[in-house]
Amino acid sequence: MQKITIAIDGYSSTGKSTIAKELARALGYIYVDTGAMYRAVTLHAMRKGYVGGHTEHLDALVKSLPGIELNFVYNTELGFAEMYLNDENVEGEIRTLDVSRQVSKVATIKEVRIKLVDMQKGMGKEKGIVMDGRDIGTVVFPEAELKIFMTASPEARATRRYKELLDKGEKLSYADVLKNVQDRDYIDSHREFSPLKKAEDAIEFDNSDMGLKEQFERIHGYALRVIEKQ
Ligand code: C5P
Repeated sequence: MQKITIAIDGYSSTGKSTIAKELARALGYIYVDTGAMYRAVTLHAMRKGYVGGHTEHLDALVKSLPGIELNFVYNTELGFAEMYLNDENVEGEIRTLDVSRQVSKVATIKEVRIKLVDMQKGMGKEKGIVMDGRDIGTVVFPEAELKIFMTASPEARATRRYKELLDKGEKLSYADVLKNVQDRDYIDSHREFSPLKKAEDAIEFDNSDMGLKEQFERIHGYALRVIEKQ
């Protein structure tokens, strides 16, 4: 059967990666979490003091980009690929609220986007891929055969994210998480280069009141219908 490209975009903490991962597993496709790539570049920038301090050094960050190597390494025990920054496993560190607070600013930088979009296009050359992010259906794979645009109310999203971070042992308030979700959505939707927006041919999918099983079944159904027509 011919393989297709599946682009899953949407607002922060809509559960894109959970569904995308499941979908890739069911179809035997590669899964790529592009948010992890922007988070890894942000972690690098924070460690070097380019962002997150009193002053920002975005030019220095841009100059350092050629020295950043990003790789996804599949963890057989966990059943998914983890993010490596210059050969270091940073999967845990990139998911903290500290990184979430800086990432959308780093993601506005044109040179960062050019580098990461180029890598993403390369990963999808053979099709058979489910990629999630903010600009996958609009910029990375505008020709994707299936595009989903996930939305949910900010409160539903912040509640999910809050539980996730608490489970990981982070000490924070629900209000902090809600503010972060809203701030990121604003910056992501208003940036100059490839802002977050629904591709014209994407299916809008509001999952505010939907459990994981129902979401998966519906989106899996869309995918099978498109694949059958190839
Ligand atoms: O998907 P996740 O929430 O981990 O993404 C973190 C941030 O990375 C987003 O809020 C956004 O600023 C940025 N991002 C992006 N384009 C993508 C994926 C993520 O700008 N394709």
